[in-house]
Formats: sequence, structure tokens, C-alpha cells
Amino acid sequence: MKISLHNQVAVVTGASSGIGSGIAKSIASAGATVIVNHSSERSVDEAKAVLKEITDAGGNGITYQCDVSKEDQVMKMFQDVVSQFGTVDILINNAGVQKDAKFTEMTIDQWNTVIGINLTGQFLCAREAIKEFLRRGIDPSRSVACGKIIHISSVHEIIPWAGHANYASSKGAIKMLMQTLAQEYGADKIRVNSICPGAIQTPINKDAWSTPEALNSLLNLIPYNRIGQPEDIGNLAAFLASDLADYITGASIFVDGGMTTFESFSTGG
Ligand code: NAD
Repeated sequence: MKISLHNQVAVVTGASSGIGSGIAKSIASAGATVIVNHSSERSVDEAKAVLKEITDAGGNGITYQCDVSKEDQVMKMFQDVVSQFGTVDILINNAGVQKDAKFTEMTIDQWNTVIGINLTGQFLCAREAIKEFLRRGIDPSRSVACGKIIHISSVHEIIPWAGHANYASSKGAIKMLMQTLAQEYGADKIRVNSICPGAIQTPINKDAWSTPEALNSLLNLIPYNRIGQPEDIGNLAAFLASDLADYITGASIFVDGGMTTFESFSTGG
């Protein structure tokens, strides 16, 4: 059994670092041509470094700058990718940010920024991807499905998170966005799923692992007793995007070392 994404084109948002870069590398190694999306001029070099790792390993792709919270930029990204590569087969909706604050001190800007990137960004990219999937139709030389979308959600789609109301709200909403799209486009053979990471070692949560004390306290939440790595998510993304996962749609799959078993209950609660 071999995961193959040969002859397919994948857009990975926020692929210049962390989980997105891990996913971009995994799906490129399975044969997909990868659009390494990044948000701004500041992330150009990081995106180029990810693409170089992909091409050095024999894969294909391009970097593409686009702020996923901006409708005009997202529409242009999909138009440009389709005109350069013919179509899009896979969307990995990964870009996300945290702007943490105690709820009564949370500014409208912190709220809107997180909802704008984490939720509206996933809506905009999914809408453009599905329009392209439907335009192309099923092409069995590419995949038995018409298209695949993978939302990167979080364990916080089910675990409430004090001090992070904007982030937890965005991830809870992704669950309903994902399931609604899976239901609405199932008959068109478009598969839509979410990966819900636990604690993965990336820049977004550096405070939680960069000192031995912080890491120790984090590990108290993880029965499997290690922090996750971007490739833990990339491996599942490659499988979920492939035809091996053809009967999986509308699912949230947790990749969290057991975090959602609620470790604090392990001694009887
Ligand atoms: P990260 O900070 O390394 O990556 C986030 C990426 O999103 C960056 O490449 C950033 O440039 C990009 N981005 C931010 N705003 C953007 C915009 N407007 N347009 C396009 N790209 C934008 O963090 P990460 O941990 O790799 O996070 C990736 C995803 O995984 C996020 O959705 C995050 O919520 C989710 N997640 C992470 C963890 C974890 O423990 N690291 C856990 C659960 C979920």
C-alpha cells in the first residue's frame, strides 16, 4: 500500500513554517505539486526555504504570497494557480494565528484578526477550491474524488480554552464549516475533513515548549508523553488527501498523543 498524490496540485496555506511546512513536504513527497502559500513579504525567505527542501528531495512546487483573510487575494491565488497548473485537486486550509487575551481585555482587533484568518480565511479558500473542483469535474487520471479539502483545526474545536476565546471560537466554527461542506458536496465526490492537532512543536506555541519547566507542564496534558512534530500532521494529511482515504469525509481526526482523553482524569478525576 503506497500513498500517491501523483499528477495532483495542492494549495497549502501558511506553508512557510510549522505544521504547514510539514504538510507541504509530506504531500510533495507523495507526488503532489505544492503551492507553498505565505502571507507577506516577511515570510518570502521562509517559503523559499520550504520550497527548496521540496525540490531538493525531487518534488515540485512554487511559493505564492497571499493573505488568506483577503477575498481579492484568495480569488487571485486560485485563478493564478489554475492558469499555471490547469486545476487544483487538494486544499490544505492551514494558516492560523493566536492573539491571546483575557476575555474582558480582548480588543475587537484581536477578535477580528483571529476570526479573519482562522475562519474567514478557511471559508474563502474552501469556496474558491470547491468552485474549481466543480468546474473540472472528476478526472480518474488524477483521483477518484473530485477534490479534497483538509481543514487544520485543533483540539480546541472541543476543548474550551480560557484566555483564548477568539482562537477556540474559530476552531469550534471550523468543525461546522467542515461538516456542512462535506454534507453539501458529498454527492459531487468532494471530500472534506479536519485534522485536529494537539500540541505540535512550532513557533505558534513556543512559550509552551521552549523551557524545560514549560515543556514538563505541557507533557502533563499528553498521555503519550511527547510533544508532536509537524510530520505527525503531514503524514495524516498525505493519507487523507489520497484515494486510500476515499470513504472518509466529514470527519475530525485528532492527532494529539491522547490529549483529548483528558489526562487529568487518569487518576480517577
Ligand atoms: P505557525 O505560526 O508556525 O504557522 C502559521 C502559519 O500561518 C505561518 O506560516 C503564517 O505565516 C501563516 N499565516 C498567518 N496569517 C496568515 C494569513 N493571513 N495568510 C496566509 N498565511 C498566514 O503555527 P502552526 O502551529 O504551524 O499553525 C498552523 C495551524 O495549525 C494553525 O491553524 C493552528 O491554529 C493549527 N494548530 C497548531 C497547533 C500547535 O500546537 N502548533 C495545535 C493545533 C492547531
